[in-house]
Amino acid sequence: MTKIAAVIAAGTAAEAERQARAAFRRGADLVELRFDAFRRATPAEVRTLAAALGPRSIGTLRTPGQGGFHGSDLATRHALLQEICRQPFRYADVELTSDAIHLEEYAKLARSRGKDLIVSHHFDRPSPADEAADVLEACLAQGTVGKVAVPCDTVDQAVGLVEVGRRLKKSRFVLIGMGAAGVITRILAEDLGQEIQYAAGNRATASGQLDLEAAVQLRAKNALILGLLGHPLGHSISPQIHTAALTALRLPGVYVPFDLEDASVEPFLRDAERLQIRGLSVTIPYKETVAGLLDEVDADAEAVGAVNTVVLRDDWTKGHNTDVYGFRVSLRSLGLRMGSRSVLVLGAGGAAKAIVHVLLREGASVHVANRTPDRAKALAASFDGPVDVVGVEDLDRAGPWDLLVNATPVGTNGGDSGPPVGDAVVRKAHFVYDLVYNPQDTPLLQAARRLGVKGTSGLDMLLHQASKSFELWTGHEAPIAEMRKAAEEALR
Ligand code: NAP
Repeated sequence: MTKIAAVIAAGTAAEAERQARAAFRRGADLVELRFDAFRRATPAEVRTLAAALGPRSIGTLRTPGQGGFHGSDLATRHALLQEICRQPFRYADVELTSDAIHLEEYAKLARSRGKDLIVSHHFDRPSPADEAADVLEACLAQGTVGKVAVPCDTVDQAVGLVEVGRRLKKSRFVLIGMGAAGVITRILAEDLGQEIQYAAGNRATASGQLDLEAAVQLRAKNALILGLLGHPLGHSISPQIHTAALTALRLPGVYVPFDLEDASVEPFLRDAERLQIRGLSVTIPYKETVAGLLDEVDADAEAVGAVNTVVLRDDWTKGHNTDVYGFRVSLRSLGLRMGSRSVLVLGAGGAAKAIVHVLLREGASVHVANRTPDRAKALAASFDGPVDVVGVEDLDRAGPWDLLVNATPVGTNGGDSGPPVGDAVVRKAHFVYDLVYNPQDTPLLQAARRLGVKGTSGLDMLLHQASKSFELWTGHEAPIAEMRKAAEEALR
């Protein structure tokens, strides 16, 4: 079984011991004591921690060139590593290149003390999987455990490492794809038979490192691997929302971002089930692309031509559009009945399409205005029901509307400031629904409030769509209150 090692990067022996004991209570099997995190570690400190934590710890002195915190001169490093190899740690970690001339000595010392020697190498840039495999072989030739970490820019590169791992089943190894794109190598650590899963003790010491709780969760039988597919993903609060849902229901699993380049989407989906991924959210810009790559899509996804949720089961992929559900349920929860009401939708992208689909089904009279008029016309033409296209410059003369929906990103934090339409338009609406949820008090909602018009942000829709996706993946009713709390915290 893969051992979970919480990485402890504390500045003093006392603090390292405190953090290590906390990590054991949180479920770690081992701790990796990073002596390079001490400003100047001493053999006495090595002995102190070995006495306190030895059999459940890895002694590591990473060089700055290999991702370490503080460097030491060669003689000091050698003396410290000799001490680490002598003391009763479960493992000692040395480096393939920096420690090359002493590797035989360390291996002998470790063997004589009955401990395993990890020989490690950290690539400083993305490298082909075959090269990583060769270096791992070199590490394995010198130590009892070989460890290689390779930065990954793309999920494809990480999948290449997974393939190498699958071929290495009989060896004692650790093969990590660094960075968010490499997270699948960590998620599959147990499945690949990796010796150790390195997880964040107090704070992540390497990009893409799982936190300790997630690593422990993944150990459970049938742990759920869920994720978010899109590019870029920095803005998304879905990881916080779904992680909160898993935690609230005590379902073992993780929800992680898969930030993919366009060309990687198709191969990733093809590999996803083999990577044991059970569910995916899909966001900008892949909602339409993914719809065309699945075995089946549900009626809402078919009508809208876009998928925001994928369920993977029994070698079958099914796409859903829970934005449609989210908007529909959110209208209900706000008490907004749209039958024969007049609605103005701003925007003609994927979200606008989902909104128009719901509104037409509810019997509303729908008007769409978009910066690029041809896109609004194309959206109107894609529906059987009537959709009236209004020029943005004509909005001052149009209306009034029972509902105004902003389905553009205008008003999102970090983007265009100000509302998407002027006061003259806002005041002609009875209710304003801004799909933007970050910030929750959007410029459009501020304008509406100033003009005495009621409104809501997109948070409600976001939560309803997320809860439906969660139910599709897990079969459990989503804990929406906990999900809302996590969303509000993430947006604060
Ligand atoms: P999309 O497919 O990229 O479409 C964006 C639309 O907004 C297009 O019609 C675009 O017009 C228009 N637009 C973009 N920038 C604009 C600007 N500066 N001025 C005027 N119009 C502009 O995106 P989407 O998936 O539809 O998402 C739209 C918004 O809805 C995003 O903010 C997204 O976060 C939000 N959303 C929220 C939820 C929720 O649950 N609350 C769900 C889905 C989406 P052009 O055609 O001229 O480019």
